[in-house]
Amino acid sequence: MRRNLVVGNWKMKINHQSAQELVDGLIAGMPAVDADIAVCPPFLYIPEVSQRLANTSISWGAQNVATHIEGAYTGEIAAVMLKDFNCKYAIVGHSERRANYADTDITVAQRFQQAIDAGIIPVLAIGELLEDREQGRTFDVVAKQLNAVIDFAGIDSFQNAVIAYEPVWAIGTGKTASAEQAQEVHLYIRQLLAEKNQQIAENMQILYGGSVKPQNAEALFAMPDIDGALVGGDSLSADSFLKIYSSFQK
Ligand code: PEP
Repeated sequence: MRRNLVVGNWKMKINHQSAQELVDGLIAGMPAVDADIAVCPPFLYIPEVSQRLANTSISWGAQNVATHIEGAYTGEIAAVMLKDFNCKYAIVGHSERRANYADTDITVAQRFQQAIDAGIIPVLAIGELLEDREQGRTFDVVAKQLNAVIDFAGIDSFQNAVIAYEPVWAIGTGKTASAEQAQEVHLYIRQLLAEKNQQIAENMQILYGGSVKPQNAEALFAMPDIDGALVGGDSLSADSFLKIYSSFQK
């Protein structure tokens, strides 16, 4: 049976003070929900956030991970460094990195592999642009992005991975995919995995991301192939993020 999961992506929208307040708010307000929850602060705040969250049921992760294990890669953070701070997750392939930092299917696959090798669960973000959707290419784009990682890292590595379907047109725009639109793609992703390995497909946590809020989380989570959410904007408020998390109960 798959467990549900919400992951907060704080992006570069927080500072030292507000990160502390947010963590304290999450700890103070944690409801008793039988599902997993994690936050992904900017790298710099991971040591402190990890200390505050130790011995709580909230996990933490990173927003990206380097393509290589070590070496002359100025400004990069290796998976093994994240492991030193007990990161459970690392987001790889977020559309903002694909669009603004030239991440390609290959570099995303390398990041995915680095996370796996370090014992970190990659949260592989995939999703189509608005023009892809309008031109009927959603499934093709999602399949290309996913297959690139399967071909590189092997299907077995997906035993320890999470997939986040994030239609780019829904990220930070306030436009959410309808629960039905998201479900259709989640089912497609699960079927793609099933062609390679039935068990991995059944166990895969497939998160939806794109303007998830307390107001739409319940409808999304009611869908059979939506196992949680990757949340940007609404993960910056403890109240909103915990309301989204609590939507699993309903
Ligand atoms: C994201 O950054 O992955 C995301 C889904 O952002 P938002 O929730 O703000 O759309």
